[in-house]
Amino acid sequence: MIKFLDLKAINDQYRDELNQVMQNVLDSGWYIKGQSVKNFEANFAKYCGVKHCVGVANGLDALILIFKALIIQGRLNEGDEVIVPANTYIASILALTENNLKPVLVEPDESSFNLSIKGIKSNMSTQTKAILSVHLYGQLAEDVSDFCKDNNLLLIEDLAQAHGGENAQGKKAGSFGVVAGFSFYPGKNLGALGDAGAVTTNDKDLADLISQLGNYGSEKKYHNSQQGVNSRLDELHTAILNVKLKYIDQEIVKRREAALYYQEHINNPKIQKPNWNVEVNNHVFHLYVIRCKERDILQTYLQDKGIQTVIHYPIPPHKQKAYSNWNTLSFPITEQIHKEVLSLPISSIITKEEQNQVINALNEF
Ligand SMILES: *Cc1c(COP(=O)(O)O)cnc(C)c1O
Repeated sequence: MIKFLDLKAINDQYRDELNQVMQNVLDSGWYIKGQSVKNFEANFAKYCGVKHCVGVANGLDALILIFKALIIQGRLNEGDEVIVPANTYIASILALTENNLKPVLVEPDESSFNLSIKGIKSNMSTQTKAILSVHLYGQLAEDVSDFCKDNNLLLIEDLAQAHGGENAQGKKAGSFGVVAGFSFYPGKNLGALGDAGAVTTNDKDLADLISQLGNYGSEKKYHNSQQGVNSRLDELHTAILNVKLKYIDQEIVKRREAALYYQEHINNPKIQKPNWNVEVNNHVFHLYVIRCKERDILQTYLQDKGIQTVIHYPIPPHKQKAYSNWNTLSFPITEQIHKEVLSLPISSIITKEEQNQVINALNEF
């Protein structure tokens, strides 16, 4: 069986170091808001090329707290329209509706699965106040930062899938907009051994406010200036993440090598491969996503050959029960994507032999 993602094997690469740092946390007797969190926040901010990082409990909270803070600062108001890709993971949308902002779902650019300036332009109104750009599957979306500046829009990035990506000019993911939200869910490219997330920004006031909001709204212990929540990243998770952050770039290099191997060897005309310019480091291949008109048949066929695949995602947000008032809306490109996409096994430790099995199966399909 070729697993879609063998998390145990991925983390086993760092077993000794992880055991050591977990032991250190145990022995320290200090588990919340300590030195390990401070170190990780500093390391991750540096890695993303920004001034501030605030650890939070998970990726969804990162996005929820970002919008909550922007509303408190008066930079957004409840009811404002925020443009977001229609084909994103539901977390991006939940962060908006949780804050009583109005998601404006926009069809993605088909070659990148991401928002484009063209898509934004044709969906903008006078109520549009922000863009939530999602770098889906690990591929950076078109840089819309200048466009946002020119049009007085706040740019927020959902980077749950694209840690470490950079554009052709070497600009790092997490530094394009006003603020970005990251997830360190175990299956992400930089994954903890549980839930974890972070916010990155160059704006100190915004970072401080988000930090307070995630800690009961307190600026100092037992002094609460905001009605906050408890969404903290802790010592144990940051100890683990501090280890894994050292290896993220080499993990990405290996993912890109594996992706390139698929690109060069999958040659079945029924299968559409990702549109990727190898010369640019803009894709970190969190997922290697192919498209096929007979996707469901293909998935069963691969399963029968012992190859696990996953669909990201089977149902678009506007077709979910949770958003039943949107169910009659039509987004043909998005709906077609959801019918055709299939994510192949990919990781830093996938072997050529495993990839050859996947490739042979696909080419014989
Ligand atoms: C994983 C993910 C999230 C949410 O992250 P969690 O840590 O699971 O809450 C948000 N947006 C996207 C695009 C994701 O893939």
